[in-house]
Amino acid sequence: MLRALWFIFLLCVLAVTAMWLADNPGQVSLVWHGYVIETSAAVMVAAVGTIGVLSALAYRLWIFIRGVPAGIARFRRDGRRRRGYLALSRGMVAVAAGDPGEARRQAGRAGDLLDEPSLTMLLSAQSAQLSGDEKAAQKFFTEMLNSPDTEFLGLRGLLNQAIKLEHSQDALKWARRASRLKPESAWAARTLFDLASRSGLWEEADEALAMAIRKKHVSAGEARRPRAVLGHLMSVDAEGAGDIARALKLSKKASQDAPGLSPVQIHFADLLKNAGKQRKAANALEAAWATTPVPELAVAYWAVTGADDAMTRMKAAQTLAGFNPKDPATALMLARAALDASLWGEARKGLKTMEISDQPLSSSYCQLMANLEEGEHQDLTLAREWLVRAASASPDPTWVCEDCGNAADSWTPLCGGCGGFDKFQWRLPVRVPGLIAPEQTEQTEQPKLMAPTTLQDVDGERSTQ
Ligand SMILES: [Zn+2]
Repeated sequence: MLRALWFIFLLCVLAVTAMWLADNPGQVSLVWHGYVIETSAAVMVAAVGTIGVLSALAYRLWIFIRGVPAGIARFRRDGRRRRGYLALSRGMVAVAAGDPGEARRQAGRAGDLLDEPSLTMLLSAQSAQLSGDEKAAQKFFTEMLNSPDTEFLGLRGLLNQAIKLEHSQDALKWARRASRLKPESAWAARTLFDLASRSGLWEEADEALAMAIRKKHVSAGEARRPRAVLGHLMSVDAEGAGDIARALKLSKKASQDAPGLSPVQIHFADLLKNAGKQRKAANALEAAWATTPVPELAVAYWAVTGADDAMTRMKAAQTLAGFNPKDPATALMLARAALDASLWGEARKGLKTMEISDQPLSSSYCQLMANLEEGEHQDLTLAREWLVRAASASPDPTWVCEDCGNAADSWTPLCGGCGGFDKFQWRLPVRVPGLIAPEQTEQTEQPKLMAPTTLQDVDGERSTQ
């Protein structure tokens, strides 16, 4: 609006000036190098105006011509960048699609077109990995460590590569650096914990877990049990090194945080017993039996209560049984102790109570029945029958890895099947029968449908030969 008003104002000024000049033509005389120009003032003003406009146009043309080379260069540069980014995105798509040839081609193209190594280096490394060229990938990842923008990505690549190649020392080195560089990264914290725990570096694993809690990657509740296991393992190490005070302190905390984990409770009770605190040791085992009645707890209980012979063991078993009277494990523990003490009637009574429960008879039950028949009546035939039944009876609870289902006789901090830390739980192993895949049925049926003609042909050929 203001511009329009300004334009109208200028037009008015021009019109007024033109009218004033028409009314007052005047006379202009110019003498220059022997030439005389005589004209009116209006023509002179018009001539000066025209020269001014032409000069301005010529100046603009000069500016334009002078800027042409730079414009062409900019146009070409923008084109290169556009093509470079296109190659980069195509390369990423090729990596996602698992096409190593295309990924390598596009990585090379993006590298030529874009002057941004931080962007193209990752694609080059990934395409090298896809082609199976781990050395080239390692070179690219290592180069990425030199720039602060790509250092973490480079570390991640090197770390994953070291894990894949099972170079545990290198993996630990990269995980420590990644965790230091980005403590807020949940991936870095988890990887450092995994690697440290799998390498038996309990203190470092515990520190990584503590850091993960501080950074809120895991809640204190989730970390309680693994930290208790780490505390227990550090306590075992401290005991081995002769630092009993530290061992006891660590073990006490671990036993509070993992009440259902029998190895932790047995170790704690053992330390207490060695420190002359038999009653406290027995209390720890009784509380553990009430939570998770694992047979090893009973064995530790005999040691703590000084039950050296079969009769005192039977008495101790009866005391321990009072802390979890209804669990089948308690009946089995009592029967075992009674059999050891040749108290056949007690043993038979305990085992009979299991028969009326709705639980299927376990392998341990059948073995104890075999021992009873052999011990009480020397009936080897019946004992053999029970042993045969034991082979097909339902399994007893054992240590089962919650990740891979590996069942082990004794607890270990690392699973022998998958290497996972603190994965064993005391429970019944799962028996899953094999599945017949639907495709398999179709595949086996299809030839049956085709069979008559095919077989006839074959038979026909054979019969004619
Ligand atoms: Zn496992």
